[in-house]
Amino acid sequence: MTVRHLTEVEALLGNEVLETVQVRNLADSSVSEVACSGFFGFVGLKPTTEFIPASVARDANGFLVTDSSFTAGNGLFAVGAVRSGYGGMLEHAVAEGLAAADGAIKVLNEIR
Ligand SMILES: Cc1cc2nc3c(=O)[nH]c(=O)nc-3n(C[C@H](O)[C@H](O)[C@H](O)COP(=O)(O)OP(=O)(O)OC[C@H]3O[C@@H](n4cnc5c(N)ncnc54)[C@H](O)[C@@H]3O)c2cc1C
Repeated sequence: MTVRHLTEVEALLGNEVLETVQVRNLADSSVSEVACSGFFGFVGLKPTTEFIPASVARDANGFLVTDSSFTAGNGLFAVGAVRSGYGGMLEHAVAEGLAAADGAIKVLNEIR
């Protein structure tokens, strides 16, 4: 097995079946092809937080920082895969979502 650092998959290529994976080296932008007959994709580790204002605290990897009530700012809740410290399993996301919904109801009741 060869581990390729700083490498991104660009395309899965083949005629009828997978034959090669096209990869880009992020250090020098060079593109190469790796012959293979199987591909296991593991994606989703980069949080999609670009649309959240830069003033909201993030950890070094871009995940939103919350308190124990999943509050990331005034009236802003963050749960699941965008939250720093998230456990990584679907059941964690669901539990966090339920807790944050309770928190959101409290906030709404306070401002009513
Ligand atoms: C390859 C892979 C395999 C996994 N296998 C398992 C497993 O076997 N068991 C397990 O428990 N967990 C597994 N997980 C983890 C699990 O899928 C995640 O932890 C869970 O889906 C996180 O839920 P979430 O709601 O926080 O985020 P997501 O499920 O990622 O949902 C976020 C949603 O927000 C949407 N969105 C993003 N930006 C915006 C925007 N600006 N406006 C509106 N919508 C937006 C996205 O399109 C998406 O639908 C796996 C994850 C990956 C990547």
